[in-house]
Amino acid sequence: MEDQVEWSAVESAWPEGLIRDVPDFPTEGIIFKDITPLLDDGDALRWAADALADRFSDTQADRVVGVEARGFILGAAVAYRLGLGFVPFRKPGKLPYNTLSVDYQLEYGTASLEAHTDALSPGQRALIVDDVLATGGTAAAAVELVDSAGAEVVGVGFLVELGFLGGRAKLGDGCPVISLICFGGDE
Ligand code: AMP
Repeated sequence: MEDQVEWSAVESAWPEGLIRDVPDFPTEGIIFKDITPLLDDGDALRWAADALADRFSDTQADRVVGVEARGFILGAAVAYRLGLGFVPFRKPGKLPYNTLSVDYQLEYGTASLEAHTDALSPGQRALIVDDVLATGGTAAAAVELVDSAGAEVVGVGFLVELGFLGGRAKLGDGCPVISLICFGGDE
């Protein structure tokens, strides 16, 4: 793709500097990683979508799964770049058709994730995309939802990883887990 931003960019203060820390949001003690400054920067948004798509281009994925809500933004861009369909995994009560559901723990509370029963077919290969890997509960729930549809997870991609929370341990080593920007740990 023309004018693609070089990978070496991740070595510098860009794009990490476009992730804003918001203390005590949504609850006291949480430092929220706000990705909206990065989304606001056209070069950075393109870099993020291109970099994730490039890292998973050899997985022969059939679908990209995006986790509500910020995972929709990046997931749809990655799906577009890879020429794949996009599947939304949503919070309860949002999807209009019949759903599969899993419950999970968040860094701040509990939640559920739902998918349409016909969103993924048995045997399909799914690439999961979200904005932030924190404790890993959300991504692990997304993996469980893909599994319960009979499909296969071939990769899990994040813009940001909070390495000090150790969330990737919940995802096992069955498929590549990639984060573009890692705070406080090894990517
Ligand atoms: P977790 O299940 O703990 O890995 O949390 C990941 C999900 O919650 C992602 O969908 C994130 O959007 C959101 N999230 C959790 N912790 C944070 C944080 N510190 N900053 C930004 N988003 C977060």
